[in-house]
Amino acid sequence: EAVRSSVRSGIILFDITRVVEELVFNSLDAGATKVSIYVGVGTCYVKVVDDGSGITRDGLVLLGERYATSKFHQLADMDAASGCFGFRGEALASISDVSLLEIVTKAYGRPNGYRKVIKGCKCLYLEIDDDRKNVGTTVTVRDLFYNQPVRRKYMQSSPKKVLHSVKKCVLRIALVYSQVSFKVVDSESGDELLCTHPSSPLSLLTSGFGIEVSDSVHELNASDGILKLSGFISGPCDGFGIKAFQYVYINSRFVCKGPIHKLLNQLATRFECLDSWAVNDGSQNRKRSRSQAYPAYILNLICPRSLYDFTFEPSKTYVEF
Ligand code: ADP
Ligand code: MG
Repeated sequence: EAVRSSVRSGIILFDITRVVEELVFNSLDAGATKVSIYVGVGTCYVKVVDDGSGITRDGLVLLGERYATSKFHQLADMDAASGCFGFRGEALASISDVSLLEIVTKAYGRPNGYRKVIKGCKCLYLEIDDDRKNVGTTVTVRDLFYNQPVRRKYMQSSPKKVLHSVKKCVLRIALVYSQVSFKVVDSESGDELLCTHPSSPLSLLTSGFGIEVSDSVHELNASDGILKLSGFISGPCDGFGIKAFQYVYINSRFVCKGPIHKLLNQLATRFECLDSWAVNDGSQNRKRSRSQAYPAYILNLICPRSLYDFTFEPSKTYVEF
């Protein structure tokens, strides 16, 4: 059963980026305003420190058991839970299946902090931590994939690639959580890979990726009472490379494939036709060909959970409506 469970967990958490993502999601679900992420590829190490609401002792007792979640109590809560990333109580149980997991936390308004260590969904310690003074949670993952040697070796063979992937993942989250400060540090070299402060998503793109967004960017804010769309979109622009800069989020969760992307690019093609037609006033040289150009966008669609499904793939980056 233990082997089956760790294989299953390895499918959910196929790399270190997924582990970081799940931990950051938990910090955001806990209302954190500051999230610091430390990653060591060679040492198979991840630490996420947040200033969120923390976990009470009662919560900590259950934490790490599969399907233990504080975010989803009954089916009727499904839509209420759409404000959270978590809903299944799988992440920490799965992480503890493939690593040694430590949680140090202090809940808001509680006198004591606590420390819990879990391995293979089993609690090794749960004790009061007198040193823990500030509210929030620190989750440390050690020896990641200790029982999945091939995966571990694969990860360690390309540390630069892994760190870049973690940075990209956190930046993608920061683009819709621009009110939160994020930091990503390579715990082995001490290098800071990303450091964001509350600011506009557009300036994050410039500081994080060196992308200058100047080509006719429009801010969007639309709502029909059920759906709410917000973000930024540019006209078709060549500067970003094909589709290099298209971020779609559903309830603040990044999705990389789905009908919205298709629709947006079709709309962009239509804009191009109109554009060409408008300037085709006899002077042929004014007619531009922009067939290779796509719009750049960061769009977040807030919508009821019952209208879409993103659980087709373990990575949850494909959505159907
Ligand atoms: P889920 O997020 O689906 O509930 P997880 O396994 O990711 O499942 O987390 C289990 C529970 O642990 C959460 O429901 C939450 O109560 C608690 N938790 C985990 N991480 C944090 C954190 N950083 N801050 C506060 N609570 C947390
Ligand atoms: Mg979670």
